[in-house]
Amino acid sequence: MPSMDAISRNLMLDSLRDYAKKNIPYDLIREKDQANEFPEKILKDMYDHSKLGVHLLMVPSEYGGVSGGTYDIYRICEALAHIDLGIATAVFATFLGTDPLNVGGTEDQKKKWLERIAKENLMVAYAATEPDAGSDLVNLRTRAEHVIKNGQLVGYRITGNKQWISNGGVADLYTVLALAPGGPCWFLVERNMEGFAPGKHEDKHGIRLSNTAALSLDGVFVPKENLIGEVEGRGLLQAQAVFGYTRVMVAAFGLGAGWEAVEQAVRYSQQRIQAGGPLSDKQGYTHKLIVPHAVRLEAARAYIEETANRLDSGEHGLQTEGAIAKYSATESGNRAADDAIQAFGGYGYTRDFPVEKIKRDIKITCIYEGTSEVLEMTIYRGRWQEHLKTRGCYYSDMADKMDELHGRNPAVGAKASALALRALAAVMEECRAQKLTRHQSVTFSLGRLIAAAELSCVFAKTAAKDKYSESVRFDTQGWQAMSRVFAREAALRTASEGLALVLGSGEGSAALSAGVNMDEVQAAQKGMMEDMDLVAVKLKQTFKAR
Ligand SMILES: Cc1cc2nc3c(=O)[nH]c(=O)nc-3n(C[C@H](O)[C@H](O)[C@H](O)COP(=O)(O)OP(=O)(O)OC[C@H]3O[C@@H](n4cnc5c(N)ncnc54)[C@H](O)[C@@H]3O)c2cc1C
Repeated sequence: MPSMDAISRNLMLDSLRDYAKKNIPYDLIREKDQANEFPEKILKDMYDHSKLGVHLLMVPSEYGGVSGGTYDIYRICEALAHIDLGIATAVFATFLGTDPLNVGGTEDQKKKWLERIAKENLMVAYAATEPDAGSDLVNLRTRAEHVIKNGQLVGYRITGNKQWISNGGVADLYTVLALAPGGPCWFLVERNMEGFAPGKHEDKHGIRLSNTAALSLDGVFVPKENLIGEVEGRGLLQAQAVFGYTRVMVAAFGLGAGWEAVEQAVRYSQQRIQAGGPLSDKQGYTHKLIVPHAVRLEAARAYIEETANRLDSGEHGLQTEGAIAKYSATESGNRAADDAIQAFGGYGYTRDFPVEKIKRDIKITCIYEGTSEVLEMTIYRGRWQEHLKTRGCYYSDMADKMDELHGRNPAVGAKASALALRALAAVMEECRAQKLTRHQSVTFSLGRLIAAAELSCVFAKTAAKDKYSESVRFDTQGWQAMSRVFAREAALRTASEGLALVLGSGEGSAALSAGVNMDEVQAAQKGMMEDMDLVAVKLKQTFKAR
């Protein structure tokens, strides 16, 4: 996918932030959240190409859009999540809804529909989930039957129900997954089509500014030209094909909302005086409630950016990387938001402070676009194949590269990352030898450890660069300290949880003990406290009390 230049991207980001500053104060968000109300005017401005035109990012320039690349879309998604995750979801639903067209549409379909989306500021919804088909879309029940006239196929009649559809009650256009005689397909359904009826706006735990509704389709007729790609049976492949970058978008939501919570906590901690001094000076507070979250979020950022850049340079798929990015950023963001409430004490538990709402909102990022558990399974499956194909060398080769990096730059945590990767290789090999992956729980745990070890590797590589990406708000000293903290944590987790996993479901072995190398992992923890102190200082300098 082509990318925007940095000036245009930053102009778009600045306009979005300025708009939010002027038009979306917290009081308004709070009011809409309590009223469970979709902010129609704000979304109209977001979609208005003469104002913000954020939806144009997903539309190639030949159809009137701005041809945003994955990196551009990640930056915008992160910025939207800082504002409000419900509003972000209402924009994301159009991105997602446009995807089947971008990936599988014929030239004529793209010209017709993408041009309309761009020019008419159409709001789109992506309708895959059904009451009985969530994580497992193979269970799809919505049917698209052939309509034949004079012996010719003229269209389809779609019948079925969709569940939890973002923008479901407010969209102009819907991309609907349905089972045709030739297999699952995406169809374009317009709001005014006969037999189509959106349900009520759901009363949700969070993202209450995002309209979520069920859809009922009762024999809705769509002309055959509305079958995306005009060939039946490609729907699930088209959905799979974009998981790499759609999951990067939701990863950016976890990152943006998680960082919003951490930033609020850092600023608050400098004003709140307890036991004779600001909370920001108390290690027991910062090193538990703030520093680990900032570190994990920046590790996720490094991984998101690497995946986005790889996609933008033409690599296809990257489904495992998309899953690692989303899993890590959203789980870290969710935990960060939980601790941000704790960091505010009783105030955090009230609706007067945004952290309470961020916590409710961010939970959805661990559910939609692949639940965390489904992602653990996806990550395991992807990398297990690599482990087998390389006869166990996938992670030990990566560890060798980290050792080389440590030789060139001992300040980025590459040595601890190498320990994490070697421990992971040993644990995976032991799981293979003892056939432990017959336990589903072992496979999910491996997914978690893979994510941690890979993040440590990418973070160390990125922290060693001469120049950081425009999104990094810390200097070299701060970012490298964060990378070291993350790598130590990854090494300790991979070694100790990996050992526990094998010992709990099978037997220990000399090869496992040597591979996990607990002595070295323990030695690598040296310096942790000093680095956490440094990160706490950098956070205070970057996010001053207002
Ligand atoms: C607010 C909101 C907005 C949404 N927006 C959209 C949208 O715009 N378009 C759309 O199509 N969908 C949308 N969804 C649906 C969302 O993608 C699904 O809710 C999600 O995929 C999970 O499916 P499910 O709810 O059926 O849960 P289930 O699949 O039933 O999962 C329930 C639990 O079981 C776990 N689980 C599932 N399978 C397995 C397994 N094989 N092994 C072990 N554990 C498993 C899951 O991790 C989860 O913890 C939205 C949902 C919500 C709540």
